[in-house]
Amino acid sequence: MKKKELSRRKFVATVSAGAVAAVASSAIPSFGSPNIVNNNTGKLAILGGTPVAPDKVWPAWPYVDERIVEEIVKTTRSGIWCRIQSANGTVPTIEKELAKLLGVKTTVCTGSGTQSLNTAVEALGIGPGDEVITSPYTDPGTIQSILVSRALPVMADLDTESFQIDPDDVERKITNRTKAIMPVHIMGQPCNMERIMEIAKKHNLKVIEDACQAILAEYQGKMIGTIGDVGCLSFQTSKVLCCGEGGAIYSNNEELMDKCYTVQNHGTSKRGKTETIGSKYRMNEFEGAILLGQMPGVKERHATRNRNAKYLTEKLKGCPGLVPQKLYPGTTAGSFYLYTWSYKKEHFNNAPREKFLKAISAEGIGLSPYIANGLHREPWTDHIQTLPEYKKMFGTSRLKKFQAELSLPKCDQVCQDMVMLWASGPLLGTLADMDDIINAVMKVYDNRDKLNSI
Ligand SMILES: *Cc1c(COP(=O)(O)O)cnc(C)c1O
Repeated sequence: MKKKELSRRKFVATVSAGAVAAVASSAIPSFGSPNIVNNNTGKLAILGGTPVAPDKVWPAWPYVDERIVEEIVKTTRSGIWCRIQSANGTVPTIEKELAKLLGVKTTVCTGSGTQSLNTAVEALGIGPGDEVITSPYTDPGTIQSILVSRALPVMADLDTESFQIDPDDVERKITNRTKAIMPVHIMGQPCNMERIMEIAKKHNLKVIEDACQAILAEYQGKMIGTIGDVGCLSFQTSKVLCCGEGGAIYSNNEELMDKCYTVQNHGTSKRGKTETIGSKYRMNEFEGAILLGQMPGVKERHATRNRNAKYLTEKLKGCPGLVPQKLYPGTTAGSFYLYTWSYKKEHFNNAPREKFLKAISAEGIGLSPYIANGLHREPWTDHIQTLPEYKKMFGTSRLKKFQAELSLPKCDQVCQDMVMLWASGPLLGTLADMDDIINAVMKVYDNRDKLNSI
């Protein structure tokens, strides 16, 4: 479709399946309906019009069912509350189930995504004086997993279309201290792993995949997290498989996985010897119980999110003002932790993003910004430069360069333009729910000349 502004009529023609259900379930005839009764060009709800989706209720997250409750009760009654009490407890069992789900030999569960990443950093022998290149556009846990091992997280700028780290900038930031790249599959979609792996091989670097948002995402026929040396997941409540707090490490490298087990088990190996440095990061059996209860539907929910994401992308591709996250070629499945767009204000009568968000939220569709500032703009960057150990390990000139390289204009732009739909729950909705999103977007788009007055 061409870049010229679409008329409502033309846009309507792009919407079809699922719309009939929307008509039946909504007081307002669906914008996407093939039987348009009222073409819904009505007044914006924020200006006193009728909302597209009043009282919208999305599928709840976290996912809860009786099976999960039963697993918790079973664990409570069993008295097996800690993973080392039994080889058949919930944690050892979920580790085996996860390995099957991910198609890897071994997984090790931990207490969080951050702990999983830190375990991987330690197990790969990365520590004081080493550098790890990662994204500034991520959860704080990503960089903390490097900092707690007293290594230096070096920030690469983003590709503004995919919101992922730009491999060219990764390569530019390599120094003789660089030991690893930690690509973050943000929103649950794969990074450009082909280029990242090429760079890693060329410079002899390890690759720790932060797949905390990306369980079951696939790239060039491979499961995300199995392309680099090791992958890490988070099971924090908002994630698409969750248990409150939790994480997992996975890889086909059994020697490395054995080291990971030892590191997360206060440095004590499966052979019972306290061999190395490691905190105690073990997942507890209640977390394992919730995960066991959530596992049965995980693939179906993944498929539903992918179906709905595809539908949204397809039906909204005529709207030039919202450009969905670019997926790299070879992305056969995303995880859709979040469904995101770049907001192009030039196509919304130059209305700032906040006005668009206010207007669409009044229509009953809650979209929001994501990360307000990249991690390169948070105070840790100043803090580490005041620490004697960082001064000693890296020296003044390296820290000066580190400071100078914290100008990451593309990340700043992504933070500013991002519009997201929480996907863990909402993307489990029906196609009619997706039509509500589409209709609300198009209603605001059609009324873009009024946005600056709200
Ligand atoms: C959630 C998340 C983490 C941290 O995981 P926790 O389980 O919260 O410690 C790290 N990286 C990314 C990209 C995340 O989304």
